[in-house]
Amino acid sequence: MSKSLIGKLDVLSVFIAWFLLLAFLIALCYGKLFAPPEASASHLVYIFGAFLGALVVHIVLALFNRCPHCNKCLTVQGFKPPHPASSGDWTKVVWHWFSGSIVCIHCGQRVNTNGL
Ligand SMILES: [Zn+2]
Repeated sequence: MSKSLIGKLDVLSVFIAWFLLLAFLIALCYGKLFAPPEASASHLVYIFGAFLGALVVHIVLALFNRCPHCNKCLTVQGFKPPHPASSGDWTKVVWHWFSGSIVCIHCGQRVNTNGL
């Protein structure tokens, strides 16, 4: 599998996880407000399970999604603040991934996400 494809799938799994978390919270609020108390809440378990699945996919792929300059994981920030040359934290990296170019949060070098 090519490195740029791993990067795309990694970022895609983050977007899916964010979407599922949002869907979970909306379904939770909806259930609390409108559903009768005896209604089944099994869909919440499924949505949360899918969220956990996307999270696991992201964690595995993130290990292979590394910066060509410093060899650190591009979408994993850890506890250190991002490099001052980068435009934000790891969520910014994910958000700008499909624009084709991001700045590494670890070393501040520009990374071409289509040509990893
Ligand atoms: Zn780097």
